[in-house]
Amino acid sequence: MTAAVSGPGGPGAGPALPGDYHVHTAWSDGTGAVEDCVRAAVAAGLPEIAIADHITPSPGSGEDWWVPLERMDAYIEDVRAAAARHDDIRVLLGLEAEYVAGKEADLERLLDGWPFEVVVLGVHLVDGFAFDDPALRADPRWGDPDALLTAYYRTVRRAAEWGRFDVLAHMDWIGLWGDRPGPGVLPEIDAALDALAASGAALELNTDRVSDPAGVMYPSPAILRAARARGIPLVIDSDAHQAEHVGRLWDEAIALARAAGYRETLRLSDHVLVPLPDAG
Ligand SMILES: [Zn+2]
Ligand SMILES: [Zn+2]
Repeated sequence: MTAAVSGPGGPGAGPALPGDYHVHTAWSDGTGAVEDCVRAAVAAGLPEIAIADHITPSPGSGEDWWVPLERMDAYIEDVRAAAARHDDIRVLLGLEAEYVAGKEADLERLLDGWPFEVVVLGVHLVDGFAFDDPALRADPRWGDPDALLTAYYRTVRRAAEWGRFDVLAHMDWIGLWGDRPGPGVLPEIDAALDALAASGAALELNTDRVSDPAGVMYPSPAILRAARARGIPLVIDSDAHQAEHVGRLWDEAIALARAAGYRETLRLSDHVLVPLPDAG
C-alpha cells in the first residue's frame, strides 16, 4: 500500500484521491475491459480502483445489464487477474449491488458467496418501477413526483438500515429528470441520511453526469451538507461506463465536497480517512 495517497498523480493527472470505487466494464453495462479501466486509473494517478459491475439479487426480469450469476466466477477471475498484473495500483473486487426491498436475504447470499471487497449499493427501482427509464416518463407513477420521491427515499432508508455495504451510490438519483423534492419529501431524505449515518457506510459523490439529463452530480449540495453535518464519510466516484471516464471531473467534485464542508474522503482498502486534496 502506497503512503502517498494525497500526493501528486501520474502524468496529466488531476489531484489524487484515494481511489475510484465505482467503475463498470463490459461485464455489465460498461464498454471497457477491466484492464483498460485499470490502466485509465493508473494514468489518472489513483492509488486504488474498484471494479464494480452491476449485480442484482433479482435476475430474470428481462433486463440484462448485470453480471449473470453463471458468469460471476469469470468476472471475479478477470478482476483478480488484473489485480495480480498491477503493482502500480490496488485493484479491488467490487460490485454495484441492486437494493431491492424484500430481497435482502438473496443479496446476502450473493455477498456471502463471493469475496467482494467493495460493496457499492444502488437503488434504481422503486417497488419494481424503473424510474430512470426514459420510456416510462409518461407512466402514471410520475404523475405525483413527490409520492414517487417519498417511496424512493423510504427505499433508500431501508437499504441504509439493512446496512451491508460500503458506499451508497448516487443517493438522489431519482432527481435525474430534474424533479426536485417538495417540502413533504425533505423529512424522508433526512431519515435516509440518519440511517446512513447509523450504518457507518460512506456517501458517494458521483461525477457521472454526462449520461444524465439533469446534468448535475449526485447528490445535491444540500444532501452533501446534511451528510457532512452527520459525520457521514464521503467517497468520490466516476461511475464510469467507459475507461476514459475513470477519475472524471475530479476537480469539480472536490470543489463541491469542500463547499459542503468535507476535508477528507474515505480510502476503502482500509477504511481510513485521507485528506481531500485542493481542487486543481
Ligand atoms: Zn447506479
Ligand atoms: Zn453505476
